[in-house]
Amino acid sequence: MKKLFLIFLFIACQLLGATQSEHQDRFTQAKKQYLQAIMTSDTKKEIESLKDLIIYGEKLNENTWKYKKELNKLGGSITEPKKVTTQTVLKPKQPPKQPPKQAPSIVQQPLQTTIKTVTQNENSISLEFNRRVNKSFIDYSKFKDGDDFYDQFDIKGYFKDAYPTKLAMNGVDRIIITQHTNDTLRIRFKNRSNLKIIYIINKSSIIIKVLNLKTQKTGQVPTIPDGDIFYPSRKTIVIDPGHGGKDPGAVNGKLYEKDVVLDVSKYLKEELEKNGFKVYLTRSSDKYLKLSTRTQYANRKNADLFISIHANAVAKSNAHKVYGIETYF
Ligand SMILES: [Zn+2]
Repeated sequence: MKKLFLIFLFIACQLLGATQSEHQDRFTQAKKQYLQAIMTSDTKKEIESLKDLIIYGEKLNENTWKYKKELNKLGGSITEPKKVTTQTVLKPKQPPKQPPKQAPSIVQQPLQTTIKTVTQNENSISLEFNRRVNKSFIDYSKFKDGDDFYDQFDIKGYFKDAYPTKLAMNGVDRIIITQHTNDTLRIRFKNRSNLKIIYIINKSSIIIKVLNLKTQKTGQVPTIPDGDIFYPSRKTIVIDPGHGGKDPGAVNGKLYEKDVVLDVSKYLKEELEKNGFKVYLTRSSDKYLKLSTRTQYANRKNADLFISIHANAVAKSNAHKVYGIETYF
């Protein structure tokens, strides 16, 4: 009897394994499909793949709230964003023309994302795309150079009027728009004080908004249009895996501290990024860095927190006396 039970258990485990990997396959496939749907603006496909992502994601214990949110948005009624009075500063010289009717049916593949207009008002810059956009269209970075803070937005898309163009915003030292690469538009804010910038994504538009401008018209509450709001000026953490290269740190046989702390640091980076932090490593490979290089790096990245990871060692005879962590300020 006991034997039979064991055999049954074994089979059950095998079955469970099979379905799990099947779910994983379906989930991965749905992810690919979803990406494709977004790239081709295929809303129907987008909805289908989102549903799969939720079903199989849940079976795999993945976090599916963002898919649900996205699905909700596509299925639910989408309200138009409130019109903000904008002063158009940059516009294509002519609206995009419809292909002439007499043209032969040549299959055109305008795969490149294009930005139709860039407009600016008192404290925001709006970009209007020729298609639906999402968070992956924006790559934000913040850094400090000398006394100046830089907020840099690399935006997927081509804007034909983006020869280096200066925008003037009261309270910001300098804003420059350039077509950084063929498919990346770069908007860079430079300012003496740290700007608090958010961006909002709504269908085919991205609005970049500076929240803490000194000059605000009195009695006017800044309006934030509908859409997903992102706070890119999140906290930056620099993780410093101790030792490295010629400096192995603590050694126990073939186990080197420099390797252990590098693994721990990479893991920590991943976990922190999942929680919305911007994370940099002082080293991501086995190389030697001076202490000053490490701290300078953290300062350059304008880090809010600097964590140096070590794995201290003691002789076995004393091991029972030692526990806990050390913190230095
Ligand atoms: Zn150490």
